[in-house]
Amino acid sequence: MRIAMIGAGYVGLVSGACFADFGHEVCCIDTDQGKIDALVKGQIPIFEPGLEDLVADNVRGGRLTFGTDLQEAVRSASAVFIAVGTPSRRGDGHADLSYVYQAARDIAGAMHGYTVVVTKSTVPVGTGDEVERIIRETRPDADYAVVSNPEFLREGAAISDFKRPDRIVIGTEDGRAQAVMAELYRPLYLNQAPLVVTSRRTAELTKYAANAFLATKITFINEMADLCEKVGADVQDVARGIGLDKRIGPKFLHAGPGYGGSCFPKDTLALIKTAQDHASPVRLVETVASVNDQRKRAMSRKIIAACGGSVRGKTVALLGLTFKPNTDDLRDAPSLAIVTALQDAGARVRAYDPEGMEAARDLLPDVEFAPDPYACAHDASALVIVTEWDVFRALDLGRLKHLLLEPVIVDLRNVYDPRELERTGFRYVSVGRPLIS
Ligand code: NAD
Repeated sequence: MRIAMIGAGYVGLVSGACFADFGHEVCCIDTDQGKIDALVKGQIPIFEPGLEDLVADNVRGGRLTFGTDLQEAVRSASAVFIAVGTPSRRGDGHADLSYVYQAARDIAGAMHGYTVVVTKSTVPVGTGDEVERIIRETRPDADYAVVSNPEFLREGAAISDFKRPDRIVIGTEDGRAQAVMAELYRPLYLNQAPLVVTSRRTAELTKYAANAFLATKITFINEMADLCEKVGADVQDVARGIGLDKRIGPKFLHAGPGYGGSCFPKDTLALIKTAQDHASPVRLVETVASVNDQRKRAMSRKIIAACGGSVRGKTVALLGLTFKPNTDDLRDAPSLAIVTALQDAGARVRAYDPEGMEAARDLLPDVEFAPDPYACAHDASALVIVTEWDVFRALDLGRLKHLLLEPVIVDLRNVYDPRELERTGFRYVSVGRPLIS
């Protein structure tokens, strides 16, 4: 089957490469000429484990191409996926749908024969209706269906998530479109990935409900962690104690500096706005979003306290800037709020991240970047683990102690064992675990 993938970002590029790997013919289109030039040269513009090889294999096999000419790609496609960004709109927090609507107009002008237009971007309930209307208005003669097929992949594990999803959600009541979608995903449901076929509006809302629920789970355990610190309990054991209950489940119960990334913050906000517009407020999600917002800055207070109450004139070393490991994505990362708050308090911030420093240079101009974790720690008054990259899990503690001005480690991801750090002579502060000394 021929597919046009509009938007070659984290979702479009991964989905496009995976569909090509299933045997479909995929053309990924992006308006960013630089991105397309890089892809044509075999360079992958994002960091995602396994993606470079997957793209190279499928380009070599002739199943995956890249370009900026949407017209040509759409004309020959049976399915056109919209995978453009839907960031928060400045000022009000609604999803900014201008890229989706522009893509819809461009697609409408180029469609030829029966075409299934699939919204893969995360979009508020009713967006599919508007996409359908835009296409009808632009091309009254067109034969098409608009389907919602939200994407649930996680950056850092995107390929395996796409190829072995917990479920595939398909929102359309059009029988012809359902058949096309079933054919596209056939390799997956042969692997028994459950297919949830439902209405378009239900599919659109399902994506927001999933993200809001996960954000709630994270925020719940974060508040439990704060309580643990006050009452001398251990949040790791609380998480295990509740997570083994199958009704709760062990995932997304890891206390930390608050959720970030390109999805949870903007999607919870967009859901809140949709719900308010429909006079059906989601108060629980409103609270989750506000608790999480405050938490990121609160982490800087934890760091300042670990430094004896002031960081003015001191250097604080941060390990990890991306919102999670195995990605180069810094969108809404907790590190951004932490860095700003530390700088506001008079600290000099030095940072190291295995993949995020290039993007960070633009976002955080006053941060000094180090070439490795040890150079980062040199003469710093505290070392802070912000993102749990594997390379930070087995640092040479003796060497670090020697390099740091003060033996202080603030571990916002609970990577280390407090007893071991204590033995090595560190003042160690983590999240929701009792202080030993
Ligand atoms: P991204 O910013 O990485 O990529 C979007 C791409 O679309 C950009 O390269 C941009 O240049 C391109 N684009 C914009 N308008 C275009 C147009 N008219 N024609 C062609 N290309 C255009 O975004 P992303 O992270 O891939 O997210 C895409 C969507 O998927 C969002 O709605 C997001 O919420 C959703 N989503 C993201 C993730 C994730 O982990 N990143 C997971 C699930 C769902």
